Amino acid sequence: MNNKYESNKWQEVINWVQTRSLFMLHYCTGCGAIELPPTMTSRYDMSRFGIGPAATPRQADILLITGYLSTKTLRRVIYTYEQMQNPKFVMGFGSCTINGGMYWDSYNTIKQLDKYIPVDLYIAGCMPRPEAILEGFLKLKEKIETGSADGYKKYNKEYEKYKKNQEKVLGEVKRRQ
Ligand code: SF4
Repeated sequence: MNNKYESNKWQEVINWVQTRSLFMLHYCTGCGAIELPPTMTSRYDMSRFGIGPAATPRQADILLITGYLSTKTLRRVIYTYEQMQNPKFVMGFGSCTINGGMYWDSYNTIKQLDKYIPVDLYIAGCMPRPEAILEGFLKLKEKIETGSADGYKKYNKEYEKYKKNQEKVLGEVKRRQ
């Protein structure tokens, strides 16, 4: 048996299994967080897709950044992200995470989330509706299944680049591993 073929097949099985049980940590940073409760309750019922909330970073697979992010909160987001176990995934909600949105000229919010932590999927909108959020989760599941949600590998590989961007706005970041 070809070992490479065998390990690819195992990886596919692991990816498939993982998409059936995803725990998310929702970091309610901005107004986009308001659309999350209806996505979780009976009308949209995200748990039918195998997605539910996690209480702590150590148990979470997905980190949700639900809108604008102040530089002060960015430090906590970095601590949280670094505490999560691999493989881990990040979703950015709304235009604030993509380009600053309506806070594009604010002095105390970041303008582009993926300069500081890798983002596997953005959901456009201001704010994205529950239908868009569910669609985003399904797209993320597809990416996990095909192995293309690999932001956590990029973070390890390009750690110095991310660290430099983080420290440019925050000064020294004490790592709490
Ligand atoms: S994208 Fe819109 S809804 Fe989302 S945090 Fe920014 S201003 Fe609020």
